[in-house]
Order: sequence, then C-alpha cells, then structure tokens
Amino acid sequence: MDNSIENIWKSAVDKIREGVNPETFDLWFAPLEPLSLENAVFSISVPNTYFAEWIKTRQKENIEKILSDILQETISIDLKPRRDIAATIESIESVPIPPLPLAAQGRQKDQINPKYLFDSFVEGPSNRFAKASCEAVAKNPGKQFNPLFIYGGVGLGKTHLLHAIGNYIKSADPAAKILYATAESFFSEFITLFRSGRPSEKEIDSFKNKYRSLDCLLIDDIQFLAEKGGSQEEFYYVFNSLYDSKKQIVITSDRPPKDLVEIEDRLISRFAWGNSVDIAPPDFETRMAILRQKASDEKIYIPDDVITYIAANIKSNIRELEGSLLKISAFSLLTETPLTLDSVKILLKDIIRPLESVNITVEMIQKAVAAEFNIELRDMRSKKRTDAVAFPRQIAMYLSRSLLEMSTIAVGDFFGGRDHSTVMHACNKIKEKIASDPYFNAKINEIIKKIKLAEAPV
Ligand code: ADP
Ligand code: MG
Repeated sequence: MDNSIENIWKSAVDKIREGVNPETFDLWFAPLEPLSLENAVFSISVPNTYFAEWIKTRQKENIEKILSDILQETISIDLKPRRDIAATIESIESVPIPPLPLAAQGRQKDQINPKYLFDSFVEGPSNRFAKASCEAVAKNPGKQFNPLFIYGGVGLGKTHLLHAIGNYIKSADPAAKILYATAESFFSEFITLFRSGRPSEKEIDSFKNKYRSLDCLLIDDIQFLAEKGGSQEEFYYVFNSLYDSKKQIVITSDRPPKDLVEIEDRLISRFAWGNSVDIAPPDFETRMAILRQKASDEKIYIPDDVITYIAANIKSNIRELEGSLLKISAFSLLTETPLTLDSVKILLKDIIRPLESVNITVEMIQKAVAAEFNIELRDMRSKKRTDAVAFPRQIAMYLSRSLLEMSTIAVGDFFGGRDHSTVMHACNKIKEKIASDPYFNAKINEIIKKIKLAEAPV
C-alpha cells in the first residue's frame, strides 16, 4: 500500500463518509486537508477555528479510531486552523460601517434617503395601518391626514416610512419642496442661529422661509423637542403656517402625543388634529418575511432553520434583525464558510443569550412528538390518516403554532403542505383537549419539556 499521507487520508475519508449523511460530509469533511504524520500524530488542516472546534467536539474520536485502524497504531489528530475565526469575527466587528451606497451618498438638500421606499417596507399586522396611512399621505399630501403622527418603539420602521413618504412625493412631483429633519437638527439649527448674539432680520427670515415655504415637512423623533422652550415656540409657528396653507406635516415619536409630557400642550393638541397611528413590534411571520427580504437584498443564502432561529429570538427590534443578518453574512463571506444553525448561534451569542433563546424548530417538535407516540418522523408529513398517526401530527401542529407563533399557513407547509384550515382544526381540537383533560395537559407539558431539553446548548 502506498503510505503517502494523501492516501491514508483518502482511505480515512472513505470510512468517514460511510458514517455521516452527505450534507454533513460536504460541509465539514470535504474542506479538510492532511498535513503530516509524525510520532503518531496526524495533522489536519481545517478552514478555521470554528471548524476545528466542531470536529474536536463531535468527530475527533471517530477520526482517530479510523486512522488508528488504517495505520495499525494509536493515532491522535491535531487540527490546524487555516484561519482564526475569533480574530475574523473581531475584525468583522471592527470593520467600519461601509460607505453608503452611491444612491444614499447623494442625500440631497432635502435630507431624504433614497434607500427607504414603500416597496422595501415589509408589511404585517403590526405596521399595516401605519404604512397605509403613510401611503395615503404620500398620494394626497396635505389633503387627508394632516398632520400624520406616527409613534412606536425603537427600530420599528418610523424613519423608514418618513423617508418613503418623501421619496414617493418627490417621484410624483419632482418640483415639490420637501424637507426631512430630526427634531434635534431643527433645534440645533435654531440654537446656532441665536448663539452669536441676536441674529439679523435677514437670518431669521431665511430660517423661517426654509421651513415655511415647504410643501411637506417630515419631522423625525419629535420627543427630542421636549424641554426646548425657544425651539418649541418656533416649531409651533412653523407648524401653524404650514398647516394653514394645507401643506403636509408628518411627525414621528417614540410615544403617543399624550405622553409627550414635556412638550407644550398647544403643540400636542395640534398633533392630534390629524391622524395618529402606532407601529407595534412585528410578529413572527413578519420577522421571517423581513429577514427573507433583507437576505435577498444582500444576495446571501440563509438556510431556513437559521432564519427561523433569528426570527424566533430577536423580537422587538427590526434594526437588530437587520444587524444580525449583516453580521452573519459578513462572517460567511469573509470565512467562506456556509451558514449553519451552529455557526450562527456562536456568532450571535452576544445578541441572543442562550438562556432566553427559543432554539426550537418545527423539526424538533416533530421529532419529539413522533418519539413520544412511536411513529416515524416522516409520518408528520405523510398523507396517512389513521388515528395512530393523525393524532400525534395534530399535536405537533398545535405545538408548532403555539411555541413558534407560526401562522396556520406556515405550519401547513411543514406538515406535507396541509391546508391552513386543517391546521386550524387540529389546533382547536388539541386546545380543547388540553383544557378538558388534565392528564393530556400534563402529557403535553412533558413533551414541551422534552423539546426544550433537546435544544442544543450553545
Ligand atoms: P425607527 O425609526 O422606528 O427607530 P427605522 O425606520 O430606522 O426605525 O428602522 C430600522 C431599520 O429596520 C431600518 O433599516 C429599516 O429599513 C428597517 N425596517 C423597519 N421596518 C421595516 C419593515 N417593515 N420592512 C423592512 N425593513 C424595515
Ligand atoms: Mg428613527
């Protein structure tokens, strides 16, 4: 036998391949390369420290046994990463935010960011009404809802919608005079004007004209106008003069008008003249849709279980959803490693803390329920309707819906393409049984516990 390390490795790889499924093999074993064999230590080059860690915890003994069998002596392996992932991740974290795309750099005088459009705003129950109101205003500025007041927590899309209104009006009427300003910048402009003593009439006029000649004023984060006496006064006049001449005003805030306690009452009451709409945190489905859209914008492929993991764990803030997506895509590009649930868990460990994490996937639910009822996993998707199979399947549907907050349509997809009414029926049936049968209730709780235990610890 030719004992070059390449040949030894080739025989070992053939053995390894027999013991794992093809995806695992392609992902984790194909990129390994033999380096040397010295003093019964077989050195293997692996793409990065993350690979090394993975192999070490899961396959080290297996590989050592296979090599020992081939070489007829006790072999240990030494994994040599080609790249240090920790360093790579650090370097990702320290990468300065890339310059804005050209379109965004061209932020015009009106400060409107061309990137934020209605088209790129994913709609869901939490933001549908806000989006519809913004579209109505964009199509008919100054006519329907004036002012439009949008409020909601951080990172839920208020600024995005504000710019989308601006972009829409601009494309319909390129001559329209629109200005986007944060309450903060309005305030600091005002302060600057007065800082060097009393401004001249001309300076004051130009400040006033800048705002009062607009067709549409978009003011972001009005809560920052709080406690800013002088500029509140000025804002009040700007508001009135635009309002009187039927020019559109759109305002965003992190809280509803009545909670803006530090803003003068006369301003608050004006905010309430028009329409106020809130944006709530997105539900699971919307989070999934946003992630899918951003992934396709970024042209990266993200496996479904990874999308589900992120959507299930980052709940309150779309900016964080976006941030985690960018982080994992940067990682994947820089390390040339495909994204897997395992690698993503490590990458996002600072954002998603393991104790809070709901790592549950539909497949884990299906597995746990199938095991409990002694049926095949594939029966979860099969067409069989015997009670022995249909009942556990209904339980798994119910658990997918309640533990993962999935829609009936999405659940149907995971169960062999079943109709949403079938899923609905299943969920109702199980829910009723839980409510009426304490033994069944206990059993379901036990299954849930098992599912949670099956969560791979990070
Ligand atoms: P806010 O102003 O409410 O704090 P932003 O408008 O800045 O939030 O939104 C944060 C990020 O999330 C932005 O990059 C925005 O494009 C994105 N985003 C928010 N809501 C959506 C949505 N419904 N669809 C797509 N992207 C969204
Ligand atoms: Mg904002």
